[in-house]
Amino acid sequence: MTVPRLEIELKKIGHNVKELRNLFGYKGISVTAVTKAVLGSPEIANILVEGGINSIGDSRIANISKMRKAGIEAQFILIRIPMVNETENVVRYADISLNSEISVMKQLSKYAVEQGKNHKVVLMVEMGDLREGIMPSDLEKTVEETICLESISLVGIGTNLACYGGIKPTEEKMQRLSSIANDIQNRYGIKLEIVSGGNSANYEWFMTTDDIGLINNLRIGEAILLGCETLHRREIHNLYTDAFTLIGEVIELKIKPSLPYGEVCQDAFGNVPKFENKGYIKRAIVGLGRQDVDTTGIKPRMEVEVLGSSSDHLILNIKDSDLKVGDEIGFDVNYSALVRAMTSPYVKKMYL
Ligand SMILES: *Cc1c(COP(=O)(O)O)cnc(C)c1O
Repeated sequence: MTVPRLEIELKKIGHNVKELRNLFGYKGISVTAVTKAVLGSPEIANILVEGGINSIGDSRIANISKMRKAGIEAQFILIRIPMVNETENVVRYADISLNSEISVMKQLSKYAVEQGKNHKVVLMVEMGDLREGIMPSDLEKTVEETICLESISLVGIGTNLACYGGIKPTEEKMQRLSSIANDIQNRYGIKLEIVSGGNSANYEWFMTTDDIGLINNLRIGEAILLGCETLHRREIHNLYTDAFTLIGEVIELKIKPSLPYGEVCQDAFGNVPKFENKGYIKRAIVGLGRQDVDTTGIKPRMEVEVLGSSSDHLILNIKDSDLKVGDEIGFDVNYSALVRAMTSPYVKKMYL
């Protein structure tokens, strides 16, 4: 079989999405399943829809258009605030987009009129993580401008935390978002269908809060795909954390010293590497490198140690294992490794 390859167990993803939908649904929160880490894979989107998802979020309009063309039936949300440059396609392919710039929404409005469509927008509110979002003090003005735009409907507000600044979605921040939603509804006499409190990092808040306020939606990617929350990367009870397995093949296996010998200069990536002396060890090279995966984000499924990597080689200390040249090794992937493996043209994706 082709190596390297990423084996994707669709049943496990299906199980995770059903569990999470039930869990969040129990307190009245809907799940928008986020497919950006899997490049909008139609096979995975299909499993999400079978698991009861009717709202799919992706950061790339290309992924959304791919899923639509594959016949996936769901409401599609563009979750990266759009580029002016892509607004025509945003209106064409996405039902909803997250936004923070009025100049961009004016373009969305122009194309919505042109295409005879109504495009829905969710305004993102900055709450401390310092990625996308309107400063709360500027929100009123933006709301007023947005509701005046032709063929644009303001359907909600949202926030995103724990992505850039690592800021935790606390009870206090969620209450604040709720109260902002409440103020907008009262002041403008509109109903916000969507109050989207965040992403997989909101799990802990959700589990501990006894009042979700007006929050009625979360945009969940990693928890569905990898079975963990994202503040501490703790496993979520009852979910599979091994739906994805990266597989590589051993291409060299020799007993060699643990310390490189000669004059130490820079490695392939401009770093001066440091090593620990463990005497002679059993070393394996796997035909897998940084062009395939974020090698710092993979964990062997057997008792071997990753020593390092270059673009095309992964170096292991295989300890007492009886691996041979030509054997395959499976690895767990973290989010970063998953994204890189999905993106790499060298890694074959195999759906099981
Ligand atoms: C990536 C992203 C998500 C999903 O995050 P996960 O940690 O994968 O759950 C949600 N919202 C926005 C705006 C994102 O960019």
